[in-house]
Amino acid sequence: MKILLGEMTREEASKRFTPDTVFLLPVGSVEQHGPHLPLDTDAFDANYACIEAAMRCSDPKPVVLPPVYYGVSLHHMHYKGTITLMPETLITVIVDICTSLVRHGAKKIVVVNGHGGNAHALGCALQTLSHQYEEVLFVLDNGGLAEGTRKRLFTGRNDVHAGEYETSTSLYNRGDLVQLEKAKEGEIIFPSRYLEFSAAERAHYFPFMDMVSSNGVLGNPEKASKEKGKEMWEAMIAGLVNLIEDLKRSG
Ligand SMILES: [Zn+2]
Repeated sequence: MKILLGEMTREEASKRFTPDTVFLLPVGSVEQHGPHLPLDTDAFDANYACIEAAMRCSDPKPVVLPPVYYGVSLHHMHYKGTITLMPETLITVIVDICTSLVRHGAKKIVVVNGHGGNAHALGCALQTLSHQYEEVLFVLDNGGLAEGTRKRLFTGRNDVHAGEYETSTSLYNRGDLVQLEKAKEGEIIFPSRYLEFSAAERAHYFPFMDMVSSNGVLGNPEKASKEKGKEMWEAMIAGLVNLIEDLKRSG
């Protein structure tokens, strides 16, 4: 059974638009990831998670859409190579893609987000769609399905961008593209401890990355390991499989 919509013919695709098929839409970004990780890490990883999870699901397997490679990366625009959408553009793209799916009969759509900067726009898009199409279930996975494993494996503060966590997961699924000798912990400055990304009691703000970190890295990539990356991926993929199987069973 094919899982990639892009590889199906229209006849094959038309058989998959049934009410219990789960559709997975990976969304990423193209943005600086420190001096050591590829620009498309978030897009590659979101797509990777969807494909790995889909392959491990029972039949009928979910359908994985071609990924949305670009995301909201306004905060990384001081670094060359970053390509950003405006938040309203991403909202429009997601609404248009999901509306196409709904017109063909999709009833269960999961957006798998690989980039924290997309979370607000994706939330807006799915909130709007859920209001418009009451009979369709729209779900947003911002990476929280394996939060317990993440907290256990990665205990460093503010480890949210190209740090120990993300360098570990990249060492596992794209180790040949990780330039580990260049991986250095950034010097982090926040205007208030209540604005730290890992603060238990926090408020949100939206600074440019180079206002917060000296090298565009948040977290310590020097502590990364392929083994931790493997364990993290296993947990994330298992979490996504569990969600999909639950959604398949739900009315
Ligand atoms: Zn990333």
